[in-house]
Amino acid sequence: MFSMDGKVALVTGGSRGIGRAVCEALAARGAHVVVNYVSDERAATETVERIASGGGRAEPMRFDVGDPDAVEEAVTRLHQRLGRLDVLVNNAGIARDALLLRVRPEDVAATWRINVQGALWCCKAAIRLMIRARRGRVVNVSSVVGETGNVGQSVYAASKAALIGLTKALAREYASRGITVNCVAPGLIETDMTAALPEEAKGAMIAQTPLGRAGKPEEVAAAVLFLASDEAGYVTGQVLRVNGGMYV
Ligand code: NAD
Repeated sequence: MFSMDGKVALVTGGSRGIGRAVCEALAARGAHVVVNYVSDERAATETVERIASGGGRAEPMRFDVGDPDAVEEAVTRLHQRLGRLDVLVNNAGIARDALLLRVRPEDVAATWRINVQGALWCCKAAIRLMIRARRGRVVNVSSVVGETGNVGQSVYAASKAALIGLTKALAREYASRGITVNCVAPGLIETDMTAALPEEAKGAMIAQTPLGRAGKPEEVAAAVLFLASDEAGYVTGQVLRVNGGMYV
């Protein structure tokens, strides 16, 4: 089950954290993984090397998901060279937390540009190819706060809720072309993004989590792998929550 043999997958922001775990999970099942990164070439190379040392296939690819021309150019290049694109995982994201009265226009612009528009541009470039192939899998990485909201995260939560709307719209738009579009919505996961949170804030989130702990990137990756697989062919427009029961 969940074989990715012969498939090509593009994972945005794949150099570390959840993205890296997703790259490793897809590669372990046989996919050729394109590890997108925007600035940290060293981390992207390390991800590729980790995959190669386990016998998998991967390559790094630099582009900024928020730049529609760069996305189009990169996806076209990828397709010319590898001949197919079966899976797109929109994982790249940023969080600039602040109470509403301290939110700055540049925080809104940056968050929207990467979290929402970035996913949209990548979907546009990838789905164009998937339509021709009459098959494809898109998995967007949203967040529990896109459904619950959270103090200090109005901008981030709104962007993650937007991603759920994007997922549902595209699921309807491209179901007839054999393309499924789904979301995973992680709860608190141990990555660089959450390492910076004060212990008190993390403790409060864990206290609201019935499983009583933070999640691991690999646990999100397993859900992404399922949604990216052939076996998930009858699942589209869904939000798969990987949150330890924090929101049910
Ligand atoms: P992370 O900060 O380690 O990873 C985010 C990745 O996105 C980084 O590799 C970063 O370089 C990349 N990125 C940022 N801007 C980019 C751009 N313009 N183009 C390409 N890549 C770009 O954090 P993470 O925790 O691994 O987060 C991965 C995803 O999971 C994010 O979308 C995040 O919002 C989401 N998420 C995380 C948690 C959590 O608790 N860690 C919870 C819910 C959702």
